[in-house]
Amino acid sequence: MQFSSRERQKLARLAGDRREQYPHSLQFYLEPPTESISLVEFESLAVDRLKLLKVVENLGVSYVRNTDTYKSKLESELRKLKFPYKALAEDDYEARRKDHISHFILRLAYCQSEDLRRWFLQQEMDLFRYRFKQLSEGLMQKFLEHVNLSFEAIGEDLKNELADELCASTPGFNMTKVKEQMFYKVGLADAVDLFRARRVFIKDGFAYVPFKEIDVIVLNNYRTKLSKALALTARSLPSIQSDERIQPLLSHLSHSYVGPDYSVQKNTGKISLEQIDALSVKSFPLCMRQLHRALRDSHHLRHGGRMQYGLFLKGIGLTLEQALEFWKKEFIRGKVDADKFDKGYAYSIRHNYGKEGKRTDYTPYSCMKIIMSNPPSQGDYHGCPFRHSDPELLKQKLQSYKISPSGITQILELVKGMHYQLACQKYFELAHDVDDIGFSLNHPNQYFTESQKLLSGGRELKKEFNNSGNFQQKNNSQESINSSSTPTSSNATADTELEGLEAYFTED
Ligand code: SF4
Repeated sequence: MQFSSRERQKLARLAGDRREQYPHSLQFYLEPPTESISLVEFESLAVDRLKLLKVVENLGVSYVRNTDTYKSKLESELRKLKFPYKALAEDDYEARRKDHISHFILRLAYCQSEDLRRWFLQQEMDLFRYRFKQLSEGLMQKFLEHVNLSFEAIGEDLKNELADELCASTPGFNMTKVKEQMFYKVGLADAVDLFRARRVFIKDGFAYVPFKEIDVIVLNNYRTKLSKALALTARSLPSIQSDERIQPLLSHLSHSYVGPDYSVQKNTGKISLEQIDALSVKSFPLCMRQLHRALRDSHHLRHGGRMQYGLFLKGIGLTLEQALEFWKKEFIRGKVDADKFDKGYAYSIRHNYGKEGKRTDYTPYSCMKIIMSNPPSQGDYHGCPFRHSDPELLKQKLQSYKISPSGITQILELVKGMHYQLACQKYFELAHDVDDIGFSLNHPNQYFTESQKLLSGGRELKKEFNNSGNFQQKNNSQESINSSSTPTSSNATADTELEGLEAYFTED
């Protein structure tokens, strides 16, 4: 491509502006963007960041953070999506602009509820942590100064004076390391985490933090800023929601939040039908436990239940043959005879597995989809019990599942505040007797995987659920079925396909 000299000047001026605006590859995102962009770019930047954050989430549950595999996979995604991936490795100001604008768009979309905020915060923190750790020492220093976190590095004299204490109070340090590393004098309020974990030397109200731990302080600072910013953004939402061009896009973006799609796993066929009753008690989330119980009791589920439960079972590893056997055995114990099952129901199960119709490999429903769409009516057992059950019935159910009275109170409080996924997380903690589940729950199959991992003593099951990378498209297609704001043609196609599928399930 050839540029005229005027165009070259214009490009140079633009690069100059960007250089001033984005002096670092890393940002705290303190100032919102002010430039005008088209709706098409708005959407494309947002979708790319959403893809990136989903990868961050997926890698976070599949690999130990900071391992080589984690880092190389994340770097390759950053490269692929054209976000800044190595600090100042390239003066790519367009990537920094994209990073800046896309962060603010998703901030708008994900400030709308506590669980969205929580998810967004977690992924942004993981992304920031990775990128900060990739900086060279020199660039870290520059960044700290840029964001006004320039802590005072102690001089050699003071370091020598405190050497014994620094060595004794800083885990993993010997005298040589103390001599090599720079130490910072940081106010206690900024170093609470390190202080609590007894990782730093404290004197006269200051923590002496080695350079290698400075990321903890920076991350704390970033978390506080971002949490506050999300709360503030939420307050300004009404004015944005009145914009009919932006609101559907934001709504679509936030409903698209799902994480891995759990459609591809290596444990297909590893679960036997005999195990399902026990698994439903130990490792199914409440929504699926309820569906399983209803199926066993009435030997039937209406189509909403069959879809929700059938795809979940597929996600935990039931093969098509197993699914056909499972549903048939149960249905013929009720009012459906074998012939009617083969004619009326088997087709739809094969359809679920992509063996009929348009051969779409349908993915299990995420919490967001279950909570936001197709509420159950009389005689239905699908939906999310935390969202769709009467609180008194929910209480009775939890009592029958031996949840402690104080645990039930906590869960009901969360439900009252409409924090359904958090209520489910609390249920997970109580049912598994753990203090903190350490992940953000957003999918019934994630619940199952995490439960199995915990019950099997931490064996790495998660990797089995690692997806091949095309989950985003599948997720979006299913997530958008009830959205009137479907912005892409691929989603529109998927809607049509799903309508086709739903038609096969209309027989109750
Ligand atoms: Fe199921 Fe999700 Fe509701 Fe938990 S929060 S019961 S996993 S839909």
